Amino acid sequence: MPGRNFLFVPGPTNVPERILRAMDRAMEDHRSSAFPELGTGVLRDLRQVFKTTTGQPFVFPATGTGGWEAALVNTLSPGDRLIAPRYGQFSHLWIDLAQRHGMRVDIIDVEWGEGAPSDRIGEILSQDKQHEIKGILIVHNETATGVTSDVGAVRAAIDAAQHPALLYVDGVSSIGSIDFRMDEWKVDLAITGSQKGLMLPAGLGIVCASPKALAAREQAKCPRVFFDFGDMIRSNATGYFPYTPSIPMLYGLRESLAILSEQGLDNVFARHQRLAEGVRAAARAWGLKLCAKAPKWYSNTVSAIMMPEGANGADVIDVAFRRYNLALGAGLARMAGKLFRIGHLGDLNELMLLGAIAGAEMAMRDVGIQVTPGTGVAAAAEHYRSTAAPLPARPGATPSPDPQTAPGAKPAVPPRAAVRA
Ligand code: PLP
Repeated sequence: MPGRNFLFVPGPTNVPERILRAMDRAMEDHRSSAFPELGTGVLRDLRQVFKTTTGQPFVFPATGTGGWEAALVNTLSPGDRLIAPRYGQFSHLWIDLAQRHGMRVDIIDVEWGEGAPSDRIGEILSQDKQHEIKGILIVHNETATGVTSDVGAVRAAIDAAQHPALLYVDGVSSIGSIDFRMDEWKVDLAITGSQKGLMLPAGLGIVCASPKALAAREQAKCPRVFFDFGDMIRSNATGYFPYTPSIPMLYGLRESLAILSEQGLDNVFARHQRLAEGVRAAARAWGLKLCAKAPKWYSNTVSAIMMPEGANGADVIDVAFRRYNLALGAGLARMAGKLFRIGHLGDLNELMLLGAIAGAEMAMRDVGIQVTPGTGVAAAAEHYRSTAAPLPARPGATPSPDPQTAPGAKPAVPPRAAVRA
């Protein structure tokens, strides 16, 4: 199909040219004396993305799932009791992983479309006088439903109950795109993957561990080899890895961290919020609901758009892909067919999203969903236009007022005749 593919699944996300070029290089000796500059640099700079000064990052050749496993097996023993709210497919899968390692998980089932119930978590912890509960598993951004939970509120509930359990947070679809504060929220194990906010291909499972989490290793009896923090700590101390790292991924990660630092994390979060608001405006204009039940749960990285009665989200996704070269996210597990998802994270801007919104609108009409043509696109476009940042100055020009907003200002673009002359 001519033209480019529009990748709007909530991960993998678009890989910027800069990262592709940084990754496009010959292999190197990962035991050379030059290698530690790369290894040490990425491990140091990763801390900024987690917003931690005391946490220790670990980079595994894995994915987010590997990050989940690494976090658990290094800090827990089979039989340990955990609590975990379940509000989507990813919280479900993490619980399943813990159970397969022999952990006892008290599952708090929450309606899909809502997030972590911090009050309920606080109640359970305050009843656990013997401190049997060793950890709390929270998925910060539930990618399956487009719901972001308030990790700060969960931390406040843990502190109010004066409970020593470790706080495990899956930030796979939030870290690098939605504000995440490891130190402030006293997160003990924070997990992400490379293929979302970090704008890389899949292939890295990244975990950041607090000093308390590192200390928990002493008691943790789960078998661990590939994911052993101890082996990593020993090798990383000199800038190396205990086994062969993916050289292109590490160069890509270095570039990704440089891009995020140049853009400024807070600007990156604000861009994601603004882009997400445009998608939500489109959904409203179509007369469609989000899976997220209330604005406080709205995710700035993925919107799950509910299908009207009788319509199948899988048909929309299929037509969007085959006819318009647009990849939308599917409804997962119990949400299969009931929704489609637009991922809006990573290296994205307004016009890219408008393309996706237009494609989704066309595909919905193609399968018989009665949305009014142009309404979603118009709503999002107006949102982006009306909230646009002031025009950046032309390179070398003296600062001038924004021609759109300055009272009585002449257009900044000279008339055509003047250009010809
Ligand atoms: N957690 C969340 C919130 C996710 O969205 C995903 C994947 O999309 C995962 C965990 C699993 O990550 P991976 O597919 O990289 O193993």
